[in-house]
Amino acid sequence: MKIKKSQRLFQQSQKIFPGGVNSPVRAFRSVGGEPRFIQKAKGALLYDVDGNSYIDYVGSWGPLVMGHAHPQVVSALKKAAALGTSYGAPSEQESILGALIQKHYPSCEKIRLVNSGTEAVMGAIRLARAFTGREKIIKFEGCYHGHSDSLLVKAGSGALTFGVPTSKGVPEAFARLTLTAPYNDLDAVEKLFKANPQEIACIILEPVVGNSGCILPEAGFLEALRALTQKEGALLIFDEVMTGFRVALGGAQAHFKIRPDLTTLGKVIGGGLPVGAFGGRAEIMDLLAPLGPVYQAGTLSGNPLAMVAGIETLRLITQKANFKKMEKNTRNLAEGIQKIAKASGIPLQVPYIGGMMGLFFSETPVRNLEDAQKSDVPRFNRFFNAMLEQGIYLPPSAYEAWFVSAIHKEKEIEKTLQAVKNAL
Ligand code: PLP
Repeated sequence: MKIKKSQRLFQQSQKIFPGGVNSPVRAFRSVGGEPRFIQKAKGALLYDVDGNSYIDYVGSWGPLVMGHAHPQVVSALKKAAALGTSYGAPSEQESILGALIQKHYPSCEKIRLVNSGTEAVMGAIRLARAFTGREKIIKFEGCYHGHSDSLLVKAGSGALTFGVPTSKGVPEAFARLTLTAPYNDLDAVEKLFKANPQEIACIILEPVVGNSGCILPEAGFLEALRALTQKEGALLIFDEVMTGFRVALGGAQAHFKIRPDLTTLGKVIGGGLPVGAFGGRAEIMDLLAPLGPVYQAGTLSGNPLAMVAGIETLRLITQKANFKKMEKNTRNLAEGIQKIAKASGIPLQVPYIGGMMGLFFSETPVRNLEDAQKSDVPRFNRFFNAMLEQGIYLPPSAYEAWFVSAIHKEKEIEKTLQAVKNAL
């Protein structure tokens, strides 16, 4: 595969950006390859500057449930751009997107729109602290909630990939307020509550983990966290930035039938443009300025272009046939890989749910970060590169979920399975 132009652009970009990229995992460092520079994308396909095409299972890290450059999204964006790119004043589009979210997330009685998942989580945590008058929070090892100080403690995603799960530059004093427990370990959470009585404002978690690979909650785990937080007077925050409109239309909270106090969203609700949101019980949300004493604001929040991309994407993915197609594509790919692995006796775990999945080279199911780290990462890296060479674009890290869209065609899934056969 020729990648000369990508290589040249990467050399140039390294003179401008640390590591040549603006988000670490894109640099391909952990998988030992060289990043492709993308020229365009359409449907389930990415095209690089050297003219190579790839079937894409990154989907911009989750937003693109309807694939790249969907005509309905592109047309809405063109129309919106002609009407002005930012107003800094309210517009009806914000309410349309907000109402679409509310319809599928009844726990979000009130919502605030922001520009990224990171911002959404920052806002939700601040609210939880204000509402409870407590400062400590509990998060789970290997869960990623964006790059703000309090959440970069034992974090997943790129932080994990690059071996800095607790980032340098995060003050000790902040990190001390973030308590951590292994995922799927209720005992550990109970111990934290016992050791910090009346001090814990909230538990935040990815209700299905996507940032140390794909890890499902064990039966009863989410229910137990709901009961425990209620008993202890702490809030339960579901970070559905990745799982929202992907695990189910109503997210993991609809799938597992749990009502969190606060929810964070991002990715799909912006359809590929920068949007995040947090929402929850009205009595908590109404603490936000201008009604209440908790400050949060954004120059570009509710941006009209971002709103229409989100609205059109949600209108499309909430059509039953589309969501079902995304689920079917994911199931076909995950189960197809399981079959291939079984036939060739390769120890592989391929968990999946809704439109997300993961792949661990591991003998046993992965239930937390420690298990994920025991999987054969060098083997994943070889697999990744063998897939890339065959035109299949997977997340460039063993610790990331794969994202399947409603737009992947059956023949693209079949081609991917053939590539898996060759790569394993
Ligand atoms: N929360 C979760 C669960 C995520 O997966 C991510 C990003 O991957 C974030 C928060 C942060 O979102 P953003 O990258 O939009 O800031």
